[in-house]
Amino acid sequence: MKFRPALLCLLAVFVAIGPGTSSADVPGAAKRLDSLRDQPERLRQFLRNMPKGTDLHTHLSGAVYAESMIRWGAEDGKCVDTTTFASSFPPCLPDQLPLTAALSNTVLWGQILGAWSMRGFRPDAFSGHNHFFATFDLFGPAFSGRQGDGLAQVAQRAASQNVQYIEPLITPQFGASMAVANQTGYNPDFQAMRQAMLDAGIRNAIPAASETATAAISGSWIRMGCDTANPRPGCDVLVNFDVQVLRNQPPAVVFAQLLFGFELMAADPRWAGLNMVQPEDAAYSLGNYKLHMRMVRYLRSVYPGEHVTLHAGELVPGLVPPSNLRFHIRQAVNVAGTDRIGHGADLRWERNPAQILRSMKARGVCLESNLTSNQQILELSGRRHPITDYVRAGIKVTLSTDDEGVSRTDLTGQYVKAVRQHGFGYRRLKKFANDGLRCSFLDRATKETALADQARRFRKFEANWGS
Ligand SMILES: [Zn+2]
Repeated sequence: MKFRPALLCLLAVFVAIGPGTSSADVPGAAKRLDSLRDQPERLRQFLRNMPKGTDLHTHLSGAVYAESMIRWGAEDGKCVDTTTFASSFPPCLPDQLPLTAALSNTVLWGQILGAWSMRGFRPDAFSGHNHFFATFDLFGPAFSGRQGDGLAQVAQRAASQNVQYIEPLITPQFGASMAVANQTGYNPDFQAMRQAMLDAGIRNAIPAASETATAAISGSWIRMGCDTANPRPGCDVLVNFDVQVLRNQPPAVVFAQLLFGFELMAADPRWAGLNMVQPEDAAYSLGNYKLHMRMVRYLRSVYPGEHVTLHAGELVPGLVPPSNLRFHIRQAVNVAGTDRIGHGADLRWERNPAQILRSMKARGVCLESNLTSNQQILELSGRRHPITDYVRAGIKVTLSTDDEGVSRTDLTGQYVKAVRQHGFGYRRLKKFANDGLRCSFLDRATKETALADQARRFRKFEANWGS
């Protein structure tokens, strides 16, 4: 949208006096931010150093920059198709090149970066939505086996922006869940289907999923030198993982993944939460949305101590039929009983948004808001974006990146957008950062420690700007 400074100033005044914004007296830092509103680069410098607590919505593979994936793929002997730029495992076929070719061929290097991310993307017949989601299949094989390196990159980037905790999303043992689903088939009686899948040995894949977490963490520690005399700053970033369930699958496969996710969380506390991913507007995702919410509701009742966050309402008019715009957030909150929602972008097109906001507030459901992602995928930004609706309703909101590598952004970029596009002030940004930690799936004791650490970081940061 066009930048309208006068309007934003008015909005800023409104937001600054909004609920929950006066928890601390920080006039120096607040004044400093206000003085930088129209200087985006200097504003970015200021916000980069500001404590931001956490990034709660970050898909690990989507968080890695494509430059690194090309280099790792080249080191591992992977290949790339010269027409589609899809990566693949060796040996390279006649219409493929080894990825090493991209290191010396600047045209190929640029073409792959463009295909594997939003770099240089210009909307055309192939929309931002389609280009964005297509990247994952293209770079997947190149990234395969490099989760430790990817986690190190994400942790390092977090540390450099004063972030102390991340909750990357990883899909654990999809093949094992699918095999069990194919063996048992679907049963509308969830209790019976769960028992059949347990009897078929779905728990047998838990050690391998735990090993995925162990390998990612130990790989990142090696990469960052955490056990050496000179550990990189990323070593101090706390990490838990959220289970990704691929929702655009037949019902039995979705249920098997959900069941496996809950079993995994119960067995291994490093898997702190569960989420459902893939485009919400895809065939199975859209057609079975209500069924999926009932599945989550059932499994939450069986595993009441485990945490859930759901992509809900990552939709806009035109992307789906109007009838599908009216209930996704509501169902995630009221039926699935989720702890957090991701995106919540279609709020204003849902049936009775005010009631949804009241329900979220009453249940303490948090929002992970992904401003860059919504702009790129949904073309939703500025005043059309509903983040202010959530803030005014007193919902706990946190800013997150979604896919900082694919989007070519970072968490600081989200804070800059919050100021520039939505007119938020310092106290509100501070609340985003603190609410992120409050809404995290850290265990209670660690969360208390993290919030105390956050308070120390803020005192230190604010001391730079006086009173
Ligand atoms: Zn996401």
